[in-house]
Amino acid sequence: MHAVMSNASDLPAAGLLPIHAMTREEARTIRFVLMDIDDTLTTDGKLTAESYAALWALHDAGLKVIPITGRPAGWCDMIARQWPVDGVVGENGALVFHEGAGRKLKAMYHPEAVPNSDQRLLELKDLVLRTFPQARIARDQFSRCFDIAIDFAEEEPVLPLETAARIKDLCVAQGAHAKISSIHVNVWLGNYDKLSMARRFLELQYGYDDARDRGTVLFAGDSPNDEPMFDYFPMACGVANVLRYRHLMRKLPHFITSKESGAGFAECVHALLDRRRS
Ligand SMILES: [Mg+2]
Repeated sequence: MHAVMSNASDLPAAGLLPIHAMTREEARTIRFVLMDIDDTLTTDGKLTAESYAALWALHDAGLKVIPITGRPAGWCDMIARQWPVDGVVGENGALVFHEGAGRKLKAMYHPEAVPNSDQRLLELKDLVLRTFPQARIARDQFSRCFDIAIDFAEEEPVLPLETAARIKDLCVAQGAHAKISSIHVNVWLGNYDKLSMARRFLELQYGYDDARDRGTVLFAGDSPNDEPMFDYFPMACGVANVLRYRHLMRKLPHFITSKESGAGFAECVHALLDRRRS
Protein backbone atom coordinates (compact mmCIF):
# COMPACT_ATOMS: atom_id res chain seq x y z
CA MET A 1 0.00 0.00 0.00
CA HIS A 2 1.44 3.36 -0.94
CA ALA A 3 1.79 6.33 1.36
CA VAL A 4 -1.00 8.82 0.95
CA MET A 5 -1.36 11.27 3.77
CA SER A 6 1.61 11.83 6.01
CA ASN A 7 -0.03 13.73 8.84
CA ALA A 8 -3.26 15.22 10.12
CA SER A 9 -2.56 18.65 8.64
CA ASP A 10 -2.94 17.11 5.18
CA LEU A 11 -6.54 16.21 5.93
CA PRO A 12 -9.19 18.40 4.33
CA ALA A 13 -11.21 20.61 6.67
CA ALA A 14 -14.72 19.46 7.59
CA GLY A 15 -17.47 20.87 5.54
CA LEU A 16 -20.35 19.51 3.37
CA LEU A 17 -18.65 20.30 0.08
CA PRO A 18 -20.55 19.18 -3.01
CA ILE A 19 -19.28 15.73 -4.02
CA HIS A 20 -18.31 17.14 -7.40
CA ALA A 21 -15.63 19.20 -5.64
CA MET A 22 -13.62 15.97 -5.16
CA THR A 23 -10.29 16.41 -6.86
CA ARG A 24 -8.76 14.00 -9.36
CA GLU A 25 -5.93 13.30 -6.95
CA GLU A 26 -8.34 12.52 -4.11
CA ALA A 27 -10.38 10.23 -6.37
CA ARG A 28 -7.31 8.35 -7.57
CA THR A 29 -6.16 7.80 -3.99
CA ILE A 30 -9.33 5.88 -3.07
CA ARG A 31 -8.95 2.09 -2.71
CA PHE A 32 -11.87 1.28 -0.43
CA VAL A 33 -15.49 2.37 -0.73
CA LEU A 34 -17.50 1.80 2.45
CA MET A 35 -21.17 2.59 2.70
CA ASP A 36 -24.14 2.45 5.01
CA ILE A 37 -27.15 0.54 3.64
CA ASP A 38 -30.50 1.93 4.86
CA ASP A 39 -31.36 5.23 3.20
CA THR A 40 -27.85 5.43 1.74
CA LEU A 41 -28.00 2.51 -0.70
CA THR A 42 -31.75 2.05 -0.34
CA THR A 43 -34.57 4.46 -1.12
CA ASP A 44 -37.83 4.11 0.82
CA GLY A 45 -36.69 0.65 1.89
CA LYS A 46 -35.81 -0.66 -1.58
CA LEU A 47 -32.41 -1.32 -3.14
CA THR A 48 -32.86 0.48 -6.45
CA ALA A 49 -31.40 -0.69 -9.76
CA GLU A 50 -29.38 2.54 -9.95
CA SER A 51 -27.86 2.03 -6.53
CA TYR A 52 -27.09 -1.66 -7.02
CA ALA A 53 -25.53 -0.89 -10.43
CA ALA A 54 -23.31 1.66 -8.67
CA LEU A 55 -22.03 -1.13 -6.37
CA TRP A 56 -21.17 -3.22 -9.43
CA ALA A 57 -19.45 -0.23 -11.05
CA LEU A 58 -17.21 0.13 -7.98
CA HIS A 59 -16.50 -3.61 -7.97
CA ASP A 60 -15.71 -3.60 -11.69
CA ALA A 61 -13.38 -0.62 -11.21
CA GLY A 62 -11.31 -2.80 -8.86
CA LEU A 63 -12.22 -0.95 -5.68
CA LYS A 64 -12.86 -2.79 -2.43
CA VAL A 65 -16.57 -2.51 -1.62
CA ILE A 66 -17.65 -2.92 2.01
CA PRO A 67 -21.13 -2.09 3.37
CA ILE A 68 -21.14 -0.98 7.03
CA THR A 69 -24.59 -1.45 8.48
CA GLY A 70 -26.73 -1.78 11.58
CA ARG A 71 -28.54 -4.66 9.86
CA PRO A 72 -28.38 -8.13 11.41
CA ALA A 73 -26.00 -11.04 11.05
CA GLY A 74 -28.64 -12.92 9.05
CA TRP A 75 -28.75 -10.22 6.40
CA CYS A 76 -24.96 -9.97 6.35
CA ASP A 77 -24.63 -13.67 5.49
CA MET A 78 -26.70 -13.06 2.35
CA ILE A 79 -24.95 -9.79 1.47
CA ALA A 80 -21.46 -11.27 1.83
CA ARG A 81 -22.39 -14.17 -0.44
CA GLN A 82 -24.59 -12.51 -3.07
CA TRP A 83 -23.66 -8.85 -3.46
CA PRO A 84 -20.57 -7.58 -5.32
CA VAL A 85 -18.79 -6.83 -2.03
CA ASP A 86 -15.52 -7.74 -0.34
CA GLY A 87 -17.05 -7.98 3.11
CA VAL A 88 -19.82 -6.50 5.22
CA VAL A 89 -19.72 -5.04 8.73
CA GLY A 90 -23.03 -5.74 10.52
CA GLU A 91 -24.90 -4.97 13.71
CA ASN A 92 -23.14 -1.61 14.03
CA GLY A 93 -19.70 -3.18 14.27
CA ALA A 94 -20.27 -6.41 16.19
CA LEU A 95 -19.26 -8.56 13.22
CA VAL A 96 -17.76 -8.78 9.74
CA PHE A 97 -18.64 -11.48 7.22
CA HIS A 98 -16.61 -11.97 4.05
CA GLU A 99 -15.88 -14.70 1.56
CA GLY A 100 -12.56 -16.48 1.80
CA ALA A 101 -10.88 -19.01 -0.49
CA GLY A 102 -13.28 -21.55 -1.91
CA ARG A 103 -16.15 -19.13 -1.26
CA LYS A 104 -16.06 -20.10 2.40
CA LEU A 105 -17.83 -17.55 4.55
CA LYS A 106 -15.49 -16.11 7.14
CA ALA A 107 -16.79 -14.38 10.24
CA MET A 108 -14.95 -11.97 12.50
CA TYR A 109 -16.61 -10.93 15.75
CA HIS A 110 -15.62 -7.94 17.82
CA PRO A 111 -13.89 -9.20 21.00
CA GLU A 112 -16.19 -7.02 23.13
CA ALA A 113 -19.43 -8.10 21.46
CA VAL A 114 -21.95 -9.46 24.00
CA PRO A 115 -24.71 -11.84 22.80
CA ASN A 116 -28.18 -10.27 22.85
CA SER A 117 -29.41 -13.06 25.10
CA ASP A 118 -27.63 -11.21 27.94
CA GLN A 119 -30.06 -10.56 30.80
CA ARG A 120 -29.10 -6.86 31.01
CA LEU A 121 -30.15 -6.33 27.39
CA LEU A 122 -33.39 -8.27 27.83
CA GLU A 123 -34.30 -6.14 30.85
CA LEU A 124 -33.43 -2.97 28.97
CA LYS A 125 -35.62 -4.06 26.06
CA ASP A 126 -38.56 -4.51 28.46
CA LEU A 127 -37.90 -1.10 30.01
CA VAL A 128 -37.90 0.59 26.57
CA LEU A 129 -41.15 -1.10 25.54
CA ARG A 130 -42.81 -0.15 28.84
CA THR A 131 -41.64 3.46 28.63
CA PHE A 132 -42.45 3.94 24.93
CA PRO A 133 -45.58 1.89 24.19
CA GLN A 134 -45.53 2.81 20.48
CA ALA A 135 -41.99 1.52 20.00
CA ARG A 136 -41.61 -2.09 18.91
CA ILE A 137 -38.90 -4.65 18.32
CA ALA A 138 -37.67 -4.57 14.70
CA ARG A 139 -38.91 -7.40 12.48
CA ASP A 140 -35.34 -8.43 11.69
CA GLN A 141 -34.58 -9.06 15.37
CA PHE A 142 -34.75 -12.86 14.91
CA SER A 143 -31.58 -12.77 12.77
CA ARG A 144 -29.58 -10.57 15.15
CA CYS A 145 -26.83 -11.96 17.38
CA PHE A 146 -25.60 -9.03 19.45
CA ASP A 147 -28.00 -6.10 19.52
CA ILE A 148 -31.61 -5.26 20.15
CA ALA A 149 -33.18 -3.17 17.38
CA ILE A 150 -36.12 -0.91 18.23
CA ASP A 151 -38.12 0.05 15.17
CA PHE A 152 -39.34 3.65 15.05
CA ALA A 153 -39.56 4.26 11.31
CA GLU A 154 -39.21 1.07 9.26
CA GLU A 155 -42.90 0.27 9.64
CA GLU A 156 -45.97 2.33 10.52
CA PRO A 157 -46.59 4.12 12.76
CA VAL A 158 -43.49 6.21 12.14
CA LEU A 159 -42.50 7.80 15.45
CA PRO A 160 -40.90 11.25 15.67
CA LEU A 161 -37.12 11.40 15.60
CA GLU A 162 -37.34 12.97 19.05
CA THR A 163 -38.83 9.72 20.37
CA ALA A 164 -35.92 7.79 18.88
CA ALA A 165 -33.56 10.22 20.60
CA ARG A 166 -35.35 9.66 23.95
CA ILE A 167 -35.13 5.88 23.52
CA LYS A 168 -31.42 6.20 22.83
CA ASP A 169 -30.92 8.46 25.86
CA LEU A 170 -32.73 6.00 28.12
CA CYS A 171 -30.53 3.12 26.93
CA VAL A 172 -27.33 5.12 27.33
CA ALA A 173 -28.42 6.19 30.83
CA GLN A 174 -28.77 2.47 31.65
CA GLY A 175 -25.16 1.86 30.60
CA ALA A 176 -25.72 0.41 27.11
CA HIS A 177 -24.52 1.68 23.75
CA ALA A 178 -27.25 2.99 21.46
CA LYS A 179 -27.28 4.57 18.01
CA ILE A 180 -30.06 5.97 15.86
CA SER A 181 -30.23 4.93 12.22
CA SER A 182 -32.86 6.19 9.80
CA ILE A 183 -35.22 3.37 10.89
CA HIS A 184 -34.09 1.75 14.17
CA VAL A 185 -32.51 2.51 17.50
CA ASN A 186 -29.87 -0.19 17.95
CA VAL A 187 -28.85 -1.07 21.50
CA TRP A 188 -25.90 -3.19 22.54
CA LEU A 189 -23.34 -3.91 25.24
CA GLY A 190 -19.60 -3.80 24.51
CA ASN A 191 -17.33 -1.07 23.32
CA TYR A 192 -17.50 -0.98 19.52
CA ASP A 193 -19.15 0.89 16.70
CA LYS A 194 -19.19 0.92 12.91
CA LEU A 195 -15.83 2.67 12.80
CA SER A 196 -13.87 0.49 15.20
CA MET A 197 -14.89 -2.70 13.37
CA ALA A 198 -14.38 -1.21 9.90
CA ARG A 199 -10.84 -0.21 10.89
CA ARG A 200 -10.16 -3.63 12.39
CA PHE A 201 -11.26 -5.37 9.21
CA LEU A 202 -9.26 -3.07 6.94
CA GLU A 203 -6.16 -3.54 9.10
CA LEU A 204 -6.36 -7.33 9.32
CA GLN A 205 -7.53 -8.00 5.79
CA TYR A 206 -5.67 -5.32 3.81
CA GLY A 207 -2.85 -4.04 6.00
CA TYR A 208 -4.59 -0.68 6.32
CA ASP A 209 -2.47 1.74 8.34
CA ASP A 210 -4.31 4.39 10.28
CA ALA A 211 -1.62 7.05 10.05
CA ARG A 212 -1.02 6.50 6.35
CA ASP A 213 -4.22 5.37 4.67
CA ARG A 214 -7.22 7.36 5.85
CA GLY A 215 -7.41 9.15 2.53
CA THR A 216 -7.76 5.81 0.71
CA VAL A 217 -11.28 5.28 2.11
CA LEU A 218 -14.45 6.87 0.78
CA PHE A 219 -17.42 6.35 3.11
CA ALA A 220 -21.04 7.16 2.26
CA GLY A 221 -23.76 7.40 4.91
CA ASP A 222 -26.90 9.20 5.95
CA SER A 223 -27.59 9.25 9.68
CA PRO A 224 -26.32 9.58 13.26
CA ASN A 225 -25.04 6.00 13.48
CA ASP A 226 -22.66 6.95 10.67
CA GLU A 227 -21.22 9.85 12.64
CA PRO A 228 -18.07 8.00 13.84
CA MET A 229 -17.27 7.32 10.17
CA PHE A 230 -17.98 10.91 9.13
CA ASP A 231 -15.75 12.12 11.91
CA TYR A 232 -12.85 9.83 11.11
CA PHE A 233 -12.61 9.57 7.32
CA PRO A 234 -11.60 12.77 5.54
CA MET A 235 -13.29 11.47 2.38
CA ALA A 236 -16.70 10.84 3.92
CA CYS A 237 -19.77 11.74 1.91
CA GLY A 238 -23.32 12.20 3.17
CA VAL A 239 -26.29 11.60 0.90
CA ALA A 240 -28.52 14.69 0.93
CA ASN A 241 -30.98 13.25 3.49
CA VAL A 242 -28.25 13.42 6.14
CA LEU A 243 -29.29 17.05 6.63
CA ARG A 244 -32.47 15.83 8.37
CA TYR A 245 -30.31 14.72 11.29
CA ARG A 246 -28.08 17.74 11.41
CA HIS A 247 -29.39 18.80 14.83
CA LEU A 248 -28.53 15.37 16.29
CA MET A 249 -24.96 15.29 14.99
CA ARG A 250 -21.75 16.98 15.99
CA LYS A 251 -19.72 15.76 13.01
CA LEU A 252 -20.94 16.14 9.45
CA PRO A 253 -19.33 14.54 6.40
CA HIS A 254 -16.75 16.34 4.30
CA PHE A 255 -18.81 15.92 1.11
CA ILE A 256 -22.52 15.86 0.39
CA THR A 257 -24.54 14.81 -2.64
CA SER A 258 -27.37 16.87 -4.14
CA LYS A 259 -29.67 13.83 -4.34
CA GLU A 260 -31.09 11.72 -1.53
CA SER A 261 -30.64 8.05 -0.61
CA GLY A 262 -29.83 5.60 -3.45
CA ALA A 263 -29.80 8.32 -6.10
CA GLY A 264 -27.34 10.23 -3.91
CA PHE A 265 -25.14 7.15 -3.53
CA ALA A 266 -25.10 6.67 -7.32
CA GLU A 267 -24.22 10.36 -7.69
CA CYS A 268 -21.30 9.90 -5.28
CA VAL A 269 -20.04 6.79 -7.11
CA HIS A 270 -20.25 8.40 -10.53
CA ALA A 271 -18.43 11.50 -9.28
CA LEU A 272 -15.66 9.26 -7.92
CA LEU A 273 -15.31 7.08 -11.02
CA ASP A 274 -15.55 10.01 -13.45
CA ARG A 275 -12.84 11.86 -11.56
CA ARG A 276 -10.58 8.79 -11.48
CA ARG A 277 -10.87 8.50 -15.26
CA SER A 278 -10.34 12.19 -16.02
MG1 LIG B 1 -28.70 4.65 7.13
